[in-house]
Amino acid sequence: MEPEFSAAAHELVDWIANYIRTVDQYPVRARTAPGDIARAMAAHAPANGEPLEVILRDAREKLLPGITHWQHPGFLGYFGITASTPGILAEMLAAALNVNGMIWATSPAATELEQVVMRWLAEVLGIGDAWFGQITDTASTSTLLALAAARDADPSIDARGRGLAGRADLPALRVYCSEFAHSSVDKAVMTLGIGHQNLVKIPVDQRFRLRPDALASAIAADRAAGYRPIAIVATVGTTSVASIDPVNAIADIAEREKLWLHVDASYAGAAAIAPEFRWVLDGVMRVDSLVVNPHKWMAVPVGCSALWVRHAESLRRAFTLVPEYLRTSAGDVLDYHDVGFQLGRPFRALKLWMVMRAYGVNGLAGIIRKHCALAKQFAAWVRAGDGWEASAPVELSLVCFRYAPKGMSPAEADAANTRILETVNKGGHALLSHTKLNDRVVLRLAIGNFRTEEQHIHTAWADLQAAARGET
Ligand code: PLP
Repeated sequence: MEPEFSAAAHELVDWIANYIRTVDQYPVRARTAPGDIARAMAAHAPANGEPLEVILRDAREKLLPGITHWQHPGFLGYFGITASTPGILAEMLAAALNVNGMIWATSPAATELEQVVMRWLAEVLGIGDAWFGQITDTASTSTLLALAAARDADPSIDARGRGLAGRADLPALRVYCSEFAHSSVDKAVMTLGIGHQNLVKIPVDQRFRLRPDALASAIAADRAAGYRPIAIVATVGTTSVASIDPVNAIADIAEREKLWLHVDASYAGAAAIAPEFRWVLDGVMRVDSLVVNPHKWMAVPVGCSALWVRHAESLRRAFTLVPEYLRTSAGDVLDYHDVGFQLGRPFRALKLWMVMRAYGVNGLAGIIRKHCALAKQFAAWVRAGDGWEASAPVELSLVCFRYAPKGMSPAEADAANTRILETVNKGGHALLSHTKLNDRVVLRLAIGNFRTEEQHIHTAWADLQAAARGET
């Protein structure tokens, strides 16, 4: 296998380098229909092994048509964008080492590097060093862990021991977030047994930010009705509009009410790398837990979410359980499985470490700055465009906008925007997405790819205008 590996690896690396160089020549969105790729695969696993070169050829020829190119500079649809070349190399190295950092002893470097890069990242974001950090796969997992810690912060609840069902002694627990919070918060309360109906969605102000007055009233009403409030989730950079909840005002309430405050800054937190955007994390020094996803806006390949809590103990309270076979004589070391629900953990710190070193703080800040400037530029074109309007303030690198010429009813404009989006995405130069604001369909252009330049957003704008004119 080894000589074959070497030849195949060299060929694959050359292919990857060429792919990265020429990715802008692919249509961004996959053009296959549902089932096409599955039909192109063999119906059964091969009885005997096949040569690597044949498998890799099939990957290129049969799978590539079904790939939506997240690496494309015209990929403007979702947050979660570039896998930089240092990040790709780190993934290769992690695969080769194949360590599982479930406990310190199964690879000290994995545990210790994770602690180091989480400290580095906290420092770079300007949030101080009074945190315990860990890397998970996604913000969904990070928020789940944070809310598990919140649920188990009060020992009298003892959810881990007694569960929540059939408890005459325990009123329903309540969690609060804005109506614009990500669905991962909903899924966390569902998974933790708190119940979806006990996630209270707080209305937002005109800039789509959680309203502290409405939050305070909701908590007071819940207490009066006999519920047990336990946590608040504030969002810094909502998915739909990148709005930034007023963390300081929310922290005032959390402190007064003695509630856990979690901040979901999965997308926007990275902006704080640039000093002029550090304000996005204002108030975060006062919260109990924070998530920022390096796999969204820091060029780290997907599968890297940074979670900080004030004390490891809060996670340990929720999750510690050490079976005999995981006990070691290593002494006073951190075993990461003890602060989460997963045992096995890939060496994710490696990619964050390599990317932070390869770009440096200034390199990362420069890219964030550039993306925010491009978003402003695009928004200016929209505002000057005939029949187009910006639908929300441009806080960072996301632009929400809509085609709504005079004389078109709101419902007709909704249909027009849905059609424009489909036409542009089908065209292949750019991929955008949509959301609803104030019940109206709105288009989203999210800039986060490290290869996106003005020419790419200009092409997207030209395609949008052509689609609005009915050209395909
Ligand atoms: N929170 C916010 C604000 C997001 O925008 C997203 C995804 O875009 C998530 C959470 C979920 O991220 P993940 O896919 O890492 O779970």
